[in-house]
Formats: sequence, C-alpha cells, structure tokens
Amino acid sequence: MVKVYYENNVDQDALADKTITIVGYGSQGHAHAQNLRDTGHNVIIGIREGKSAIAAREDGFTVKSVAEATKESEVIMILAPDEIQGILYDNEIAPNLTAGNALAFAHGFNIHFNVITPPTDVDIFLVAPKGPGHLVRRTFTEGFAVPALFAVYQDATGKAKDLALSYAKGIGATRVGVLETTFREETETDLFGEQAVLCGGLTSMIEAGFETLVEAGYQPELAYFEVCHEMKLIIDLIYEGGFSKMRHSISNTAEYGDYVSGPRVITAETKKHMKEVLTDIQNGKFAKGFIKDNKADFFAFNKMRKENAGHQIEQVGKELRKMMPFVTKKD
Ligand code: NDP
Ligand code: MG
Ligand code: MG
Repeated sequence: MVKVYYENNVDQDALADKTITIVGYGSQGHAHAQNLRDTGHNVIIGIREGKSAIAAREDGFTVKSVAEATKESEVIMILAPDEIQGILYDNEIAPNLTAGNALAFAHGFNIHFNVITPPTDVDIFLVAPKGPGHLVRRTFTEGFAVPALFAVYQDATGKAKDLALSYAKGIGATRVGVLETTFREETETDLFGEQAVLCGGLTSMIEAGFETLVEAGYQPELAYFEVCHEMKLIIDLIYEGGFSKMRHSISNTAEYGDYVSGPRVITAETKKHMKEVLTDIQNGKFAKGFIKDNKADFFAFNKMRKENAGHQIEQVGKELRKMMPFVTKKD
C-alpha cells in the first residue's frame, strides 16, 4: 500500500533558512513560487527574459538568470518544459551547483531517462502535484491543495526526504496528502496515463466515434454532442463518485448499453496495445524518440500537431462552442 504523508508527518522544517530557486514561471512554476512564498519561504525565480520573466516581476518576485539564481540558492526546482531541461541543466545549472545543494523536479523524466546526470554530492527529489498549476495555486488560496507525489532519487545530505516533504508542505500538498513513490514509478505511470488513457486514448476514442457516426451519414454537429461534448458531464460524475455514481445518474438504457458494448470497443486486443505502449515507455523507446525529435526542432511533433488540428471534429466543435459561451472558461 502507498504511504501517505500529512501536515503532522512533517515535523521538521528542512527548508527554513534556505533560498529556493524556481526555474520557470509557467503553469507549475508560478503556483509553486507563490505558494512557497505564502508559506514563508525565500523564493527567487530563475528564468530567461520573456513573457514569464515579466509576469514574475509583476508578481513581486526577484528574477535572475537561471545561472545566477542557481548560484544564490540551496534548493533548485526545475519547472521549465521537460524537453529543454537537459540543455538548461548542462549550460546554466550544473556549473553553478555546489555540494549539499538540492535539485528538485515535478516530473522524473530527465533523471529517470538519464538526460540529466547530476553529481553524487547533491540531493535529488521530486514533488509532483497531481493537477495543473492553476489548480495548485487556486486550491492553496482556498485553504486546500492538490494531492502530490514525492520521491527521493539521491540522498547526499541525509536530509533529502525531509526536504522533499517540507517542500510538499510549502506548496500546500500535505494538507490533503502526499504519496510516496520513486522516480521510475512516477515517470512511467505518468507517461502511460497521458498516452494510453487521458490524452492519447481519449482523443483517439472520441475521433473514432465521431468518424463512425459521420461516415454513417449522421450530421457532424450531432456527432460532436454525442461523443465529445457530453464527455465532460460523464467524467465529472466519475470524478465525484466513481463509476457507480456515473452509472446511477445515467438512464438504464445507457447503463445497459455501457455493459454490453463497452467491452466490444475496448477489447483484449486494445489492452495488448496498451501493454506495448507501456513497454516502449519502460524500455526508453518513447523517451528516445521524443528527445531525438526535439533535437530536430520537433519536426515530427509539429507535423502531427498540424495534422491533428485539421480534423473535422475541431472545426465542428469550434462553431458549436460559440452557442455555449459558458463552456469556454478563462484561467
Ligand atoms: P510551462 O510550459 O507551463 O512553463 C515553462 C516555463 O519555463 C515558462 O515560464 C517558460 O518561460 C520557462 N522556460 C522555457 N524555456 C526556458 C529557458 N530556456 N530558460 C529558462 N526558462 C525557460 O511548463 P509546466 O509548468 O507545464 O511544466 C513544468 C514541469 O512541471 C515539467 O517537468 C512538467 O512535466 C511538470 N508538471 C506539469 C504539470 C502540468 O499540469 N502542467 C503537472 C505536473 C508536473 P517563457 O515564458 O520564457 O517561455
Ligand atoms: Mg505528464
Ligand atoms: Mg445520449
């Protein structure tokens, strides 16, 4: 069973008197920085000049180059995009790390796949909130938090676990629970979830359903409502109370069809493909491909982005959402 830590399991404020650099001020960066500051920690932002640097200054933070900020702090949390962390680490962070510093992440990718290989005399931990940065910030200001995972990869000082938990407390996560894991488990399950189910699996299933209806001669607008728009309503029910709440809320017709037809769509064959996806994550094939494409200016990535953006469901959805301005929230 997973071990969960709460406020009262973090007896030592291992972060007290330390300066924390948050590298990046995007989705996760702004939330970690602001929550840690509100908890009373000393936070500076390490970032290149640009949109995020301006936002960080407007929010009252001291902003420095990544190299300068690393030099001046004991804990360096890297919240830049995963694909640029390796080069950023080599050029700006590694030369400015000192023994006893701590290097932190919100996703284990670069450590687990050996893109970043830090010296043995620094602590390495991760604290990964299970939600986007804007929710990490909003729930904190409301007195709650988003649950998080934490893991220690390297404990050079004997204090790495205390530091990780203290950091998790600083961003609020111990209010609701912090789950202990490893870099390997966090990285592989995160990649699998987003590829096979949450992002890849879901969009492919919606597209296939949409195409099936449209190819059979049904109006694309109706197809959009039936296989895409209503998805959120179903997911909200599952989120609130599991499959049972969702199945309680839908009609008996829908529930009967759920049992009869669901397994005809997601078959043993589909699960076999899921296992192949997991294997490619575990053996590093996916990571290698992502890193290689990044080095080629994301040639394949950009091509796939363009192709997917052109799908008919995107055009139909764009028009239909104009009927429903209330669904388009700004954060
Ligand atoms: P974002 O893309 O939202 O933000 C990245 C930040 O890094 C921006 O402020 C960007 O600034 C800055 N940046 C980009 N390039 C550089 C550079 N060369 N030097 C310095 N700063 C740079 O990233 P996320 O917050 O989504 O992701 C950060 C980490 O958090 C990743 O490891 C991700 O896997 C993890 N994570 C993300 C979650 C999420 O929901 N988003 C959830 C849990 C973990 P600029 O404006 O200049 O481009
Ligand atoms: Mg992820
Ligand atoms: Mg219906």
